[in-house]
Amino acid sequence: MEITLKNLTKKFDSVTAVDHVSLTIPDGKLTGLLGPSGCGKSTLLYMLSGLTNVTEGSIFFGDKDVTVEAPDKRNIGLVFQNYSLYPHMTVEENIAFPLGNRHGKDRMNARQKHEAACRVAELVQIQDLMNRKPKQLSGGQQQRVAIARALVKQPDVLLLDEPLSNLDARLRMEMRQEVRRIQLESKVTTVFVTHDQEEAMSITDTIVLMKKGVVQQQAPAREIYMNPSNAFVASFLGNPPISFLDAKVAGGQVALDAGQGFSVSGVADGAYSLGIRPEAWVPGHAFHVKVEHVEMRGQDQIVTFKLNGVQVRATLDAEYQANVGETISLDLRTNRCYFFNPETGVRV
Ligand code: ATP
Repeated sequence: MEITLKNLTKKFDSVTAVDHVSLTIPDGKLTGLLGPSGCGKSTLLYMLSGLTNVTEGSIFFGDKDVTVEAPDKRNIGLVFQNYSLYPHMTVEENIAFPLGNRHGKDRMNARQKHEAACRVAELVQIQDLMNRKPKQLSGGQQQRVAIARALVKQPDVLLLDEPLSNLDARLRMEMRQEVRRIQLESKVTTVFVTHDQEEAMSITDTIVLMKKGVVQQQAPAREIYMNPSNAFVASFLGNPPISFLDAKVAGGQVALDAGQGFSVSGVADGAYSLGIRPEAWVPGHAFHVKVEHVEMRGQDQIVTFKLNGVQVRATLDAEYQANVGETISLDLRTNRCYFFNPETGVRV
């Protein structure tokens, strides 16, 4: 089910939580709504669900305008951060619960409900836990039940609001792969809200990155990381984050500290905010910098030094000898450097 948003806006009194958002959420794909706390991603998700009404603009599911349609008429599955399972019901009863209030031709008998519950339980791999109560399950298992319950009605759209944030780091990583597998197997159009860039980067087909209610960029993970449209996008994605420094371009040359610099093409003379990804730096000869800090991560190390008066981070191979106080020599891969308008933040 392709979802189209046209000028979608939500105001809570003086706060504009979602501000004239227009975008297309592709059919059968996993879309991540990403952004810092308060950027409006949950509000956007709840407008898709119908639980939050729209101030302005419209929502289409396929060709159908669902802007004012009640939640139960939208054929959506919703999974919340806190699972929201019924504690007195078994896993199977929880999963089958949404099938209970169907009428007319959609009404299901007990056997049909059991079969539907078993089908999704198998998909999320909890078929052996059907008789347990929620409190007899781990957090990851509870979240699987919540996903099964959301899928049992074969929704056109699955909406997930920070579904993994109550899980510890390792389980979170495991469950995010599970969400991806379940989405690929069920092929359901899925919208996944998260503030965790790594989560969004690792499992989605496309990312919608928001700031203050406005969409900054919509693109697949690789594209949004490699081609950020502005300084906010560049800074939100990447760990360790990109470093920004003031830089002047004159005659195709970028001047940095102590006569060091590099050549660029296609960038007009002027002042810029230069973004350098940490992986842009590699051992070499062009730049001589004094190491201020080394953070060993195992597979690599984050080496910090100053350039143009600003702290810059480089990720270097763990075997490379970098000691605090010593000068090291590095080259710069300029395809991981980005020039932004220093006032607007827009990429040039
Ligand atoms: P988080 O990651 O912290 O959940 P979010 O990106 O999901 O943040 P929203 O919950 O959508 O952000 O909130 C967007 C803005 O709207 C915030 O400024 C928030 O305070 C405001 N807001 C959200 N719900 C309401 C409400 N019911 N009444 C008033 N303001 C609200």
